Order: sequence, then C-alpha cells, then structure tokens
Amino acid sequence: MENKADLHTHSLASDGTRPAAQIVGLAKQAGLAAVAITDHDTVAGVEEALEEGRKLGIDVVPGVEISTAANGKEIHVLGYFVDWRDASFLSRLERLRNTRNERNEMMIEKLNELGLQVTMEEVLAEAGRTRQDGESVGRPHIAALLVRKGYVGSVQEAFDRYLGAGAAAYVNPPRIRPEEAIRWIKEAGGAAVLAHPGLYGADRLVDEWIAAGLDGLEAYHSDHSPEQERKYALLASRHGLIVTAGSDYHGERNGRAFHGPIGARTTDAATVGRLRAKRRK
Ligand code: AMP
Ligand code: ZN
Ligand code: FE
Ligand code: FE
Repeated sequence: MENKADLHTHSLASDGTRPAAQIVGLAKQAGLAAVAITDHDTVAGVEEALEEGRKLGIDVVPGVEISTAANGKEIHVLGYFVDWRDASFLSRLERLRNTRNERNEMMIEKLNELGLQVTMEEVLAEAGRTRQDGESVGRPHIAALLVRKGYVGSVQEAFDRYLGAGAAAYVNPPRIRPEEAIRWIKEAGGAAVLAHPGLYGADRLVDEWIAAGLDGLEAYHSDHSPEQERKYALLASRHGLIVTAGSDYHGERNGRAFHGPIGARTTDAATVGRLRAKRRK
C-alpha cells in the first residue's frame, strides 16, 4: 500500500463514525501514502486531519463531497485542495447544510406519519454527541437510529425501506446543480471530481458535467463493479481527466465497514500530485 492514496472518506464531521484524526491514523496503519477527508457539505474535519497528517507523516488531502441534483438524481461532486478557510466557500457550504437540516426534519416527519417514532433530538444523540458548528447530519444517522429502535434489522434495510431514493420516507430537497458545485470548488481554488459516476445510471449527463469543467472522475469506488471501473477509467482518460479512487469509508455500522474499509480502493499517490497541480490558491 506504500505510494497508494484513498481519496474518499467520511469522518464524524458528517456521517462517518470516527474522528478525522483517527481516519488519518488508520490510513497510516494501512500503509497508505495519502488520504483525503471528504465529508458531506462540510470541511469541519479538515484542519484536525491535516494536523494529524503532519504528526504521522502522511499526506492529507483537504476535501469535501458536495450534494447536488440533476434530473431528479442526487449527484455528488468531490472537491480536492479547496481552501477550507475561504469565507465565501464556507458560507456556501453552510447554506447546503441548512437545506440538509430541513430535509432531515421532513424525513423525520414522514417517518412519524408512517408510525415510526423518532425525533430530531434522538437523531442528534445517535450521531454520538452534540453536533458542533459546521458539521453535517445525514441519512446514515437516521438509519442507525431506526436500527437501534428496532424498526429495521440493518442500516441497509433502513435505506431500502425508508431512506433510499424513492423509498417511503425519502425527501428530495432543492439542491444546487453539479455545474454550480464545480464552480464553487474551483472558486475555492480546488479540483472538482465526479464521485462514483457508476451510481447515477446517467452517462449522458456525465458527458455534460465533463463539459462543465470537471477535473476528474472517481472511476474506482467501493460500490462500483469491475466493469464500471474499467468504463469510467477509460472515459476519463479519453477526456484527459484525472482518474481517482476512493473507499468512501464511513467507519463501521452494524459491526462492519459501511461502503468499504479504508484502502478498499486506492490510486497511485501520483494522482494526488495531479490534483494538487490544479490548485489555484
Ligand atoms: P445524505 O447526505 O444525508 O443524503 O446521506 C448520503 C449517504 O447515505 C451516502 O453517503 C451513503 O453513505 C448513504 N446512502 C445513500 N443512499 C443509500 C442506499 N441506497 N444504500 C445505502 N446507503 C445509502
Ligand atoms: Zn455519507
Ligand atoms: Fe457520495
Ligand atoms: Fe461519500
């Protein structure tokens, strides 16, 4: 694993189960040369991760995963080497978290209507502690609560029956378009990469976002099949885009790594250099 990088992980700052510093420690233990922290709509874990990276001697990439929508589908855009202190970027992310909180409230309301008794306070408690300013709350927290209260047997069942796209308590909030997230990331000095393109079933749209200025495609992802990985690696290279890889590690839920363990997908550390070269600040 030396010279390898895992470019997609979630910490406690969003819906992961481990502090950002611990993720860096696990990446080091796994023998990785680099790891990116890419929390949903927040960079609250970045500073802590960078500090731990300096301490342990592992390259930490400041990142973010922005939730957007196109054609009614949820599309995730990864930002790497963004200036995580940029005031206007931070206030843009804050707006996304506000929309997210409203969405969470609406999903809880739907669950209540379906006879599942859960409250926002319980969801926050499920997140393990009071959420700090700048952190985000997401569906995996709600899923974990449904498991704990015995409404479902597993986090996956919670998504299949209630929380996943099109399921009974699903709410699709108003979101920015992928093009806008790409612009925000670039204005914050970073490189924009389309997360897990295989999960959208919309390759025609992928072409549009490439035209909108994407810098890379996350061809290698824990939820991609080998065929998808080959397809998107090829697509990226045809367009001269950076090919990235990430486990989408979210810590452990139900006693196993949710999505994949750290290092489940890796790319050459040289990819980090390519992303860094796009940095404009
Ligand atoms: P949120 O940002 O709150 O909408 O939650 C998004 C997260 O929920 C993703 O990062 C996944 O970890 C998880 N997720 C979304 N859809 C599914 C699904 N169908 N099955 C399992 N996990 C999912
Ligand atoms: Zn997540
Ligand atoms: Fe994602
Ligand atoms: Fe993710």
